Amino acid sequence: MSISQTHSADALRITEIFYSLQGEARTVGVPTVFVRLTGCPLRCVYCDTEYAFSGGDLVSIDDVVSKVAAYQPRFVTVTGGEPLAQPNCLLLLTRLCDAGYEVSLETSGAMTVAEVDSRVVKVIDLKTPASAEMGRNDYDNIPLLLPADQVKFVICDRDDYEWARFKLDEYQLPARVSDVLFSPSHGQLSGRELAEWVLEDNLPVRMQLQLHKILWNDEPGH
Ligand code: SF4
Repeated sequence: MSISQTHSADALRITEIFYSLQGEARTVGVPTVFVRLTGCPLRCVYCDTEYAFSGGDLVSIDDVVSKVAAYQPRFVTVTGGEPLAQPNCLLLLTRLCDAGYEVSLETSGAMTVAEVDSRVVKVIDLKTPASAEMGRNDYDNIPLLLPADQVKFVICDRDDYEWARFKLDEYQLPARVSDVLFSPSHGQLSGRELAEWVLEDNLPVRMQLQLHKILWNDEPGH
């Protein structure tokens, strides 16, 4: 079926499908197929995927699954934008799990993950004060976290760091999920400074730098 014949009932708006190294989270450095869905209702100040806010192509779920299969991956990451803004994302996640891939979902934390297939590893952001989108955090997602899931904080400054540290305790995040990720906001906070704060406080988190930005300077397609 061509894109023009694709009906929205069984389709998703897709910005890009590409094969690269996982840039962050627990599987950093591992070859992964990325499916980037178009659209996001948030506007974080540091957003690095504004090109995914609009445009894209309407692609049937069958075609998305076929394009992923062509890379013969072990890992597949569904990302955005905010992938859960398109309801068919849930169907895609289940289809990818059924196909035998190790599937992860990168989501802003602003939309419910209640219906996400339990085989999917959820990587959920908690938006900090300096993101300008803290008010969008859906804390009802916290009890829905599974042991394999991950929670990510993108930290812009010391106030964000203190806020994130408080949330770690408030929701007992290290005991709930496999990894709590602290990532410095690119161009706003140096990785070294954040690393030193984490060490000073002996925090049970994984401090990470985004590998794809180091390797490819954040060009689309990586
Ligand atoms: S949630 Fe993600 S894609 Fe959406 S504005 Fe924030 S950083 Fe960008």
